[in-house]
Amino acid sequence: MSESLVGPSSNVIVGIDLGTTHSAIGVVDSGFPILLANEQGQRITPSAVAIDENRIFLVGKSALELRGYASARVWTSIKSQMGRQPLPVEYAEYGPEQLSAEILLEMKRIAEMRLGHLVKKAVITVPAYFNDGQRQATKRAGERAGLEVVRIINEPTAAALAYGLDKLAERSRIAVYDLGGGTFDISILEMQDGVFEVLATHGDTQLGGDDLDHALSQFVAGLAAINWHELSRHQQQQWHKESSRVKCMLSEMDEASWQLAADAPSYRIQRQTLETLMQPLIARTIKCCQKALNDARCDISNISNVVLVGGSTRIPAVRDAVARCFGRQPDLSQHPDEAIALGATIHAGVLSGALRKMTLIDVTPLSLGIETLGGLMNVIIPRNTTIPCKAGEMFTNAAAGQQSMKVSVLQGEREMARDNWPLGELTVPFQPVAKGQARVGIQFRIDENGILEVLVRDVATGRDEIMQIQHAAVDVTDEKVESMISESVDHAFDDMAERIFTEARLKAEELLPAVEQAMEIGAAWLSDEEKSSIQLAVEQVRVAMAAKNHIHIKAAVQTLDHATEALAARIVEMAMEGGY
Ligand code: ADP
Ligand code: MG
Repeated sequence: MSESLVGPSSNVIVGIDLGTTHSAIGVVDSGFPILLANEQGQRITPSAVAIDENRIFLVGKSALELRGYASARVWTSIKSQMGRQPLPVEYAEYGPEQLSAEILLEMKRIAEMRLGHLVKKAVITVPAYFNDGQRQATKRAGERAGLEVVRIINEPTAAALAYGLDKLAERSRIAVYDLGGGTFDISILEMQDGVFEVLATHGDTQLGGDDLDHALSQFVAGLAAINWHELSRHQQQQWHKESSRVKCMLSEMDEASWQLAADAPSYRIQRQTLETLMQPLIARTIKCCQKALNDARCDISNISNVVLVGGSTRIPAVRDAVARCFGRQPDLSQHPDEAIALGATIHAGVLSGALRKMTLIDVTPLSLGIETLGGLMNVIIPRNTTIPCKAGEMFTNAAAGQQSMKVSVLQGEREMARDNWPLGELTVPFQPVAKGQARVGIQFRIDENGILEVLVRDVATGRDEIMQIQHAAVDVTDEKVESMISESVDHAFDDMAERIFTEARLKAEELLPAVEQAMEIGAAWLSDEEKSSIQLAVEQVRVAMAAKNHIHIKAAVQTLDHATEALAARIVEMAMEGGY
């Protein structure tokens, strides 16, 4: 091992899907579970092992390539022999455990190459039906590869994790349909105490995508009038390889051409033809699904999610059959051949601490704020803000000599405080000062548990008042959120009009006494004409306020502002010259 690889390996735990046909490895990188690609840029590596004439082990694509030349020294579908006795003759020298260790060693090497440091710990997946002996054998294979196997987890559970189904409610049931290369599994899981329990599992260890390749090869042999059994083992493998390619093409297209070599005859194959060939195989998987549902004493109406795993579930006819069987469209959001490794990686990330025990990213369902002068809602934390969060604003006293400030904490989307929900109230005392002189900071903080803390501080004294509001900030039922939002939409127009009116009224209420005061100070220099125009403007503001017409109030306030402009300037000038 090169020097550069000796680096921090400490807490990294990788997730490995040790599959029958393909294996994959992943790691959590800065909060994201990712799968690591091999030298060919593939995130899945064939689970094939070969030994060459120099007794060197090869794994993956290079092992498969040896198949033509030294077929006796290439092993595939090793997993199907794990923990079994007696073993077929081809395992006389190297048992399935050792060959699996070679695959795991290769996966470990791929990870170390991509990560640039050593990997020592792993989570490895096994089929739900694996017995204890098979699980132990898998664990020993990991240890032989130099890995500490921190956990063996079930493949369907890993798939559920990859699809994010660990967030489902307690007692939710899901079905995981896994059709890979050589095996088929169906598992019914139930979420209990935050973990998935396998309620039932069924399957067929002799049924998978390879059988489809074989069926298509036989079909083409028929077209070409060739006796399948007269082909050499090597030729049969070439045929299977071509059939597999055409099969995968037909998952995307309606037609593909089957051709062994450029100078060989070609056969156009329709998707419809492949579907006909597949029908009996698909029917067998559906029978298993029904058995599993029966064993779990579960009706399809109790299943909240159906998840597809395994490369062969890319076939549209398979997806359709599953949808019909379960009466719902399956979730297609993940790569079917990567989901198990991704789930193992997520599990490993949680164990190593690279991913926090997964919690939903919470947002504030509704806005949080306080009531301000005039009964207005002043939003401090808008709805849909990610928690934890904090925000605040500075407020002042509305009246001279005021000795305390009442802070009403509100939740909701309406413009007027009274239409929102009260969450709590607190009163901050402060030194009596002139109007607008107090400085009171109000800060809202919501922690990751959804607890809202309201902190009110009189800036002059530094005195804090703190109020805690448990969970109210985030624990609102969806129905209540919806009704609040739809109410705010229904009343948007009236609410806005009332806010503008209130703001205009507050402005006028502030302006009128100020004008009165200014008139007294400036009485001596005002012409009668000026006086009457100011009085007229004051009267207009009063009338508009009595009529509660916010547009008129705004206009009248503007006129009044304008009429008193010269007076205000004179007063400022005087003040600068030494005061009045
Ligand atoms: P395993 O779990 O057995 O290791 P995978 O989940 O990797 O297997 O699935 C491998 C199988 O998926 C192979 O038979 C392969 O031909 C098949 N497969 C992969 N992609 C497609 C596709 N696009 N259409 C049809 N079959 C596919
Ligand atoms: Mg698999």
